[in-house]
Amino acid sequence: MAYTKRLDGRKFDEMREIEGKVGVVKNADGSAMFKFGDTVAIAAVYGPKDLYPRFMQNPKKGKLRCYYDMISFSVNERKRPGPDRRSNEIGLVTEKSLTPVLSLENYPNAVVDVFVQIVQANAGTRCAGICAASLALADAGLDMKDLVCAVSAGVVDGKVLIDIDKYEEDVEGMTDIPIAILPRTGEVSLLQLDGKVNREELKEALELVKKVSKKIHNAQKKALQEKFK
Ligand code: ADP
Repeated sequence: MAYTKRLDGRKFDEMREIEGKVGVVKNADGSAMFKFGDTVAIAAVYGPKDLYPRFMQNPKKGKLRCYYDMISFSVNERKRPGPDRRSNEIGLVTEKSLTPVLSLENYPNAVVDVFVQIVQANAGTRCAGICAASLALADAGLDMKDLVCAVSAGVVDGKVLIDIDKYEEDVEGMTDIPIAILPRTGEVSLLQLDGKVNREELKEALELVKKVSKKIHNAQKKALQEKFK
């Protein structure tokens, strides 16, 4: 059956409602919440602080470490707590997508730890986590070249849709493409692909993500302005 309509009535190029908030974890050096509809991510930043064991220190630049976790009650059926292959992979890609914006050369011998917790999950959690983490790094006052905006595109039946939810992700033939973009330069710092696409569809997905990332960037700037106005 051709995919002509989205179940929740959204247009193909329409995201779920997005919202960012900064300073949600008072004990952290920086923190933020970011949500796409009912997918909610919280990020807490600790550091920069001395990296131990000492032999891991680099006098030329600091280290960014990202951890991702989905809380047991974030999904309908209880998820087994603790790390697994998926959370390790997402921690790693979060790190890779944020590294280009951080001026780590200003933090020799130091480490910055970023903890992403998904409190509610309905697909797109790695993207919500990246959006929250980049806000939390800015909240911590770290030297940054830009924020990072991330969102998942979906491709099915030759159509490209933005910010797919879990129902859409499970549609037969759906390709999930999480993408992170540096809004100032348009540089892509994350592009994953789960499924099949052709060149045109991938180009269209990138264009659509670039277009909607302006809205994500605005929501992030609004969240920072609300705290620091
Ligand atoms: P992302 O959340 O970045 O889209 P995935 O594609 O791996 O990453 O996961 C898609 C969605 O599947 C999650 O957002 C969540 O709603 C659901 N999900 C993932 N892992 C589990 C799990 N262990 N138990 C139940 N639901 C899960």
